[in-house]
Amino acid sequence: MDVDVIRSGDAVTKEGQLLSTYIVNQCVAIDAGSLGTMVPAVEQDRVSDIFLSHCHMDHVTSLPFFLEQRSPASEVLPTIYAHEACIDALQTHFFNDLIWPDLLRIEREEGVRFCRFEPIREGSSRTCHQVEITALTLSHTVPAYGFLLADSKAVVGFISDTEYSLSWVQALERLPHLTGLFLECTFPNRMQWLAEKSKHMIPRDIERFAHDWKGSMPRIIINHTKPNLLDEVRDELRAALGDAIEMVETGRQYVFE
Ligand SMILES: [Zn+2]
Ligand SMILES: [Zn+2]
Repeated sequence: MDVDVIRSGDAVTKEGQLLSTYIVNQCVAIDAGSLGTMVPAVEQDRVSDIFLSHCHMDHVTSLPFFLEQRSPASEVLPTIYAHEACIDALQTHFFNDLIWPDLLRIEREEGVRFCRFEPIREGSSRTCHQVEITALTLSHTVPAYGFLLADSKAVVGFISDTEYSLSWVQALERLPHLTGLFLECTFPNRMQWLAEKSKHMIPRDIERFAHDWKGSMPRIIINHTKPNLLDEVRDELRAALGDAIEMVETGRQYVFE
């Protein structure tokens, strides 16, 4: 399985993530933080299915630009999968004729199609281009999903944004084999107060995860670290876990097999 981790922007260091987007096997996207701004248009055209983890800006902000940049010749209508609450939030607070035009209204009035929104339930799976995608409930300030992606070669998890919660840890442990795991660690330990308020994880949570995990550990790639706190988070993780984990590098393709 090929996973391209998309850069947040030219102003953001490669190991930091302000905006989240991953492209799997060139055609399935997880989140759309920088999909419409940091991916060449011809590569965006190959993306037909987008799975949104939740409605926060850093995960959805480039969605309008992705839709605007699609080639008029493209015959594929993109499908955007998300929790029902996320789709409602996008409609009410984003595509609302104020922040951005109401796409559904224009579709209705003009008989055109820009995209298709499809709600997904916890535990449900979709298969897109021979990749099976399953939604896991996370514990964040708004309804949020992590995703498990499986193709013929590998099973890879994407867990962000969330606080530590046994529900998703145990769901991952139940898998017969997990090849790789993108796992969030947003703040350093001294900012536990903010992590608790915003329901994110700190290095102590990753330590707990490693301690609690039964069976063989998958390859763990830490993501969603605030760029200005990167050194602190990396140092704390190294001190606790050594080389057992790695920090994500955006702009890079990861291959899992
Ligand atoms: Zn969030
Ligand atoms: Zn986020």
